Formats: sequence, C-alpha cells, structure tokens
Amino acid sequence: MKRIQLVNQYKKIIWECTTTCNYSCTYCPPQNSDGKYRWPNEEQTANLIDFSKNFYSNVDINSTDFDVMGGEPTMWPAFSEFCEEMSKHCLVGLSTNGSRTERYWKKLKITNPFRYFVISFHPETADIDHVINVAKIMYEKTPAITIFVLYLPSYKQKCLELYNRVKNSDLRISIKLKPIYSTLRFKPNYTSEDWKVIQETERVGRRWPDEDMERVFPDVTIKNPAIDLDGMVYENLDHLENNQQNNFKNWLCHIGTDLIYIGPDGNVRGSACGVSKYLKRKPLANAYKDKTFIKPKAVICPYSECHCPADAEILKKVNIFNQPQRVAHDPDKHIKNALAS
Ligand code: SF4
Ligand code: SF4
Repeated sequence: MKRIQLVNQYKKIIWECTTTCNYSCTYCPPQNSDGKYRWPNEEQTANLIDFSKNFYSNVDINSTDFDVMGGEPTMWPAFSEFCEEMSKHCLVGLSTNGSRTERYWKKLKITNPFRYFVISFHPETADIDHVINVAKIMYEKTPAITIFVLYLPSYKQKCLELYNRVKNSDLRISIKLKPIYSTLRFKPNYTSEDWKVIQETERVGRRWPDEDMERVFPDVTIKNPAIDLDGMVYENLDHLENNQQNNFKNWLCHIGTDLIYIGPDGNVRGSACGVSKYLKRKPLANAYKDKTFIKPKAVICPYSECHCPADAEILKKVNIFNQPQRVAHDPDKHIKNALAS
C-alpha cells in the first residue's frame, strides 16, 4: 500500500465527552472510565458548539460528522438537550453502551438524524434483549443503527447469539464483530481460531431505505466518506482491520485536517491516536474556550496499529518510505518530497 486519502469533502470531530461510565469492562483502558472528567458546564458547552460550527464552516451539513463517545455519554444529564442543539448544525453520531432504560431512549431529542447510532455490546455486562430493544426504539428516529459486538473469547457464545439473532431477523440493524485491542492492562490473546471467527462473521449492513429518509428528513442526504486506497475506492476499511493491515508505522500522516479529536478536558488534537501527545506537541486549542485552531504539521506515524477507524480512514496517509517497518535515515527529505507530491 502506498496511500490512503479521502475522495470527497468530509469533516469529522471525535469528542470524548466524559471519562465517567456505568460499566467496568475488564478490557477498558482505565483512562476511559476513571471518572476523572464528567462533562462540560453550560458556558463550555456553548463554546464547544461555536468551535464546531467554525470547523464545519466549509462543508455542508450532509458531510459533517460529530462523533460523541466516552466513557458513557448518556450519563451526562444534559446530553439530550445538547444533542438537540448540536444536531441543528451538524450530523451527530453517538457511540453508547446502550444501557439506559427504554424510556430514556424513547425521550431522547435530536433535530437532524443521527449520522449513526452505535451500540457497543460489552458481553461481560450487557443484556442481549435490552440491546435489541434499544436498537429497535432508536431505529424509529435514525436511519443507521449499528451494534458492534466486542468479541471476547470467553463470551463467544453470547457474542454469537446476539450476532445471529440480528442477522437472522428482518430488523434493519447492522451488526459486526469487533476485535478488542491490546491495552497496557489487557491483552486479548486471540488465537488463530478467534481471528477466523471475527473474519468469518461478516458485517451485516442495513439501514433505512432512501424513500423513508426522504419522507422523514427531506433536507438531509447523509454523505459518507469515500476512501481511495491506491486507486480503489472503498466505503470503509473493514478488511484492513480484519486482516491486521492497519499498520502505518513510518507513514506520513496528515493529522488535524479533515479530522480532529477533542478530549474530555476540551483539548483539541489532530487525531484520536495520541500521536501529538507522544511527540510532546501542545494541544491545537481548547474547544471549551477557543473558537478555532491553526492546522498542524503532518507527523511520521510511530505506531504499529492505527486503532481508531476514523484515524485509519479519514486522515490522509502516505507511505513515504515504502517499507513500513524500516526506520528512516533521512526523514526530512522524504517528508518534503511527500508534502510536495
Ligand atoms: S462501556 Fe466502554 S467506557 Fe464503559 S467501561 Fe466498558 S469499555 Fe469502558
Ligand atoms: S496511529 Fe495515528 S499517526 Fe499513526 S496512522 Fe493512525 S492516526 Fe496517523
């Protein structure tokens, strides 16, 4: 592989809105659920909305993506009001563990449709019937519901039961088994058999038919990012992840262009992977008090796994050395050439 880049105009913000969660999954990176950050106050929330409007100012709403994740975002008491306001300006995507009550989900407000509504199924805690019921409720409000089943080998039967119940139903709900990545305190230790299970349970992709979308949301036509991978165009990079090809070590990566990451402290970075922190760069801005930021310089990827699908898909990456595992002797020259190309 030589290059990955967006084909169309598309802008995405990933906002990790809190590190508070009501689950305690064994594989959760501690900083995602340590309770250190709760949620922004009213003033910070208003500024975050302004900051986001500025970031999206050169794309139409159909090509915006505001991905809210946590922790568990729905623990924030003002979450519903925030969604209603934010979704006037961009298409909000929500990643949740789906654990709130059915009553909560029925009452959740939104102005424009969710770009996507992702329920992460955490098999140690989540209940299969509840997750399916929440997906059915949310399907009435939003065109794309996906259940990501976090594949934990010790819960293989439970994971496959949910997958098969959705797959064999006529529910217009997408479902996919997702590998769990290694953290400092958790190693999934997948066997080749586990990888086979993940690869062979293909993504089931279903959504509203176009005519329903036109009837319910006539002003919105959701556009998805299209990715050019060495001349071939894809809608997602599932096969890279499934085949463990998301290794861009030593590639030039254009962070902070079409995608930014906002941490639970409001600090803005150019990707979700933490490379700018690793390189000891300052945050680009703080979305709770600044209105905009200056585009950062590209980086050479130091990691052997690009975990976040948005990082993998939306950021432009160039294999400047054409030998991902080798360390460059003259990186400046290669970067200069790559930037000029
Ligand atoms: S639901 Fe997500 S954030 Fe919460 S403990 Fe589990 S993995 Fe962590
Ligand atoms: S891990 Fe970070 S630096 Fe590396 S390719 Fe992914 S986004 Fe870019």
